[in-house]
Amino acid sequence: MQKISSFRGCYHFLSNFYQHPVEYKGLTYPNAEAAFQAQKCENEDEKVKYTLIKNPVAAKRMGKNEPNLPADWDKLSIEIMKDILKAKFSVPELAEMLIATGDDYLEEGNRWHDNKWGHCMCKKCQNLKAQNLLGNILMDIRREISEGSMDNLKIDRLDTGSFFVISWSTDKCHGELLINNPYDGPYETPEIHISCANFLQNFTEEESRRMTDSILKLLPEYIAKNGLFEPMYGRDEE
Ligand SMILES: [Zn+2]
Repeated sequence: MQKISSFRGCYHFLSNFYQHPVEYKGLTYPNAEAAFQAQKCENEDEKVKYTLIKNPVAAKRMGKNEPNLPADWDKLSIEIMKDILKAKFSVPELAEMLIATGDDYLEEGNRWHDNKWGHCMCKKCQNLKAQNLLGNILMDIRREISEGSMDNLKIDRLDTGSFFVISWSTDKCHGELLINNPYDGPYETPEIHISCANFLQNFTEEESRRMTDSILKLLPEYIAKNGLFEPMYGRDEE
């Protein structure tokens, strides 16, 4: 896996300072930075001023001085950032550029001591653990664009027995998951149930665990609605 650690040059589009209009909650901002800083404002009218600031550095500076930050801004800001970047990369040309980064690890290397959203490369920070929130959000969005959002995950079919064969799909992909009967154990520990997952093989271990987890969460609802089907696997042939 390669690492993209500078959001400059041909990767500038990954930066929030990249000039490309971002439509978010009814307003069009000149870039993602302005859209993000605007969300620090309490009311809608105040946000409008950010639609007029072309320079992302100026938007960032203005955002720093917003007096009425929501109390839980630290936590809230991560969700807001993801929403804004989803909006930014909903534009086909930008989505394509993001997808073209393949499975490269994305991290905004910087020199301004930002180890929350990126990773500062200065001597003082070099031993600090970077959270890389911006990179993680970008990689999440990249995956959602290519594989379909987990929001659209659904179970299409379930065959039960001592094994469950679960056919699932998102809006972009589909696969089957073969697991031990989850009624033998709690839904919360899916990793012990994965015995085969023909599609999930292409995922990293962490990704397949997360996906399996999402699939298993849907199971009770699916079973309640559809009942249990005739077993296909794990029963004695008559
Ligand atoms: Zn630093």
